[in-house]
Amino acid sequence: MHDKTLKQLADALAARQISSVELTGLYLDRIKRFDPQLNSFITVTESQALAQAAAADAARAAGKAVALTGVPIAHKDIFCTQGVKTSCASKMLDNFIAPYNATVVEKMNAAGLVMLGKTNMDEFAMGSSNESSFYGPVKNPWNTAFVPGGSSGGSAAAVAARLAPAATGTDTGGSIRQPASLCGITGLKPTYGRVSRWGMIAFASSLDQGGPMAQTAEDAALLLNVMAGFDPKDSTSTHIDVPDYTATLNDSIEGLRIGLPKEFFGEGLDADVEQCVRDAIREYEKLGAKVVEISLPNTHLSIPAYYVVAPAEASSNLSRFDGVRFGYRCNDPENLEALYKRSRGEGFGEEVKRRILIGTYALSAGYYDAYYLKAQKVRRLIKNDFDAAFANVDVIMGPTAPHAGFKLGEKAANPVALYLSDIYTIAVNMAGLPGLSLPAGQSNGLPVGLQIIGKHFAEARLLNVAHRFQQATDWHLQIPAAFA
Ligand code: GLN
Repeated sequence: MHDKTLKQLADALAARQISSVELTGLYLDRIKRFDPQLNSFITVTESQALAQAAAADAARAAGKAVALTGVPIAHKDIFCTQGVKTSCASKMLDNFIAPYNATVVEKMNAAGLVMLGKTNMDEFAMGSSNESSFYGPVKNPWNTAFVPGGSSGGSAAAVAARLAPAATGTDTGGSIRQPASLCGITGLKPTYGRVSRWGMIAFASSLDQGGPMAQTAEDAALLLNVMAGFDPKDSTSTHIDVPDYTATLNDSIEGLRIGLPKEFFGEGLDADVEQCVRDAIREYEKLGAKVVEISLPNTHLSIPAYYVVAPAEASSNLSRFDGVRFGYRCNDPENLEALYKRSRGEGFGEEVKRRILIGTYALSAGYYDAYYLKAQKVRRLIKNDFDAAFANVDVIMGPTAPHAGFKLGEKAANPVALYLSDIYTIAVNMAGLPGLSLPAGQSNGLPVGLQIIGKHFAEARLLNVAHRFQQATDWHLQIPAAFA
């Protein structure tokens, strides 16, 4: 059963070939058996999952089942889950039990999905390798000496190893797409505002967006149907109607205009990754698409601008962790000042502190114009590049990441090398656009992802374009041998 997609599991439940309690038990057993090798979960909510599954079975028996009733899922440990530890992989929140559910979790619960547990991640979603977690690194199921990507590395590894049929993730600069690429799964970062951020612990509020991480585009469409929509509790969520994302999956892509930005195929791109991406594009041409060379001339500015904007917003968001209101508090502080300093000093990890320092500096009175304001102007230039490109193409394609997985520890001592992992994903967040990564090949036994970028609110188109590729290829069906 664990080799089935979310869609197939939903069908099996509907056909009463298996109950939700049996299915949930099967995944809980897999987590027990395999997760010690991967460390992809921070918390496994076994008894709660079995109770939710029993309720789903009862709902089905009463004729009240909907599309995903009884299907198990895992949530990134950045989403608040009522009564369950919500740590954001930080010592700061190691003792934090969320008093409410994030809107995404609430919607999933209402749709009858069963939560298996909370997945590991980079601390406060800052990272690209899952090595900054307080709970230790996650391993890539394709080769446990390699990183799974980050920050949603636990979700990506769990889905790749089929310890969960699907999971939620969040993406501020690439954290859904890059780990999806490195673990060989399908991940979608929706348009900014498409999915509510309420109850999702904030990193950089103008960039953060939750989305599905799944085996296939069809599974991601089913999950986005549940996750998307306006939320009065999130002032940046939009009123735009949510279509049925599964309805257009099979639409023809004959004549689809694919833009290939020349900046995505230059220096720094691994040759094997380039080959996989070019092969995938050729597959699209066979399916009737047309390739257009385009330029996104400000791509090289996206990382420097992001590393001003994101830390600035993070420094502000993380000021709430003060040892008083939430989470970790140091022992025996001498006075109030020491309480703040020591709680934050002891509770946050190194990368988080680095971001807070950079962000506070960029926002300080003397440097605001030179850094923060300038970065916001660059952000507009990046968006303008995409607007100009989308005047002539329907989607943009390229690599998700410049490389396949790298070894644990390989880039840990060099933050800038790690930051470059998001060279092709960050601009998409800066422009608020939707982006999807799907498995498109392998390099030395490690998966390689193809990124597809769409216009604002073009998620249905992205999922359609990805689904057509998955109808013609089988990269998305590969399971790492040790977990088959
Ligand atoms: N790797 C990027 C960072 O460290 C993006 C992380 C994310 O998308 N949450 O900030």
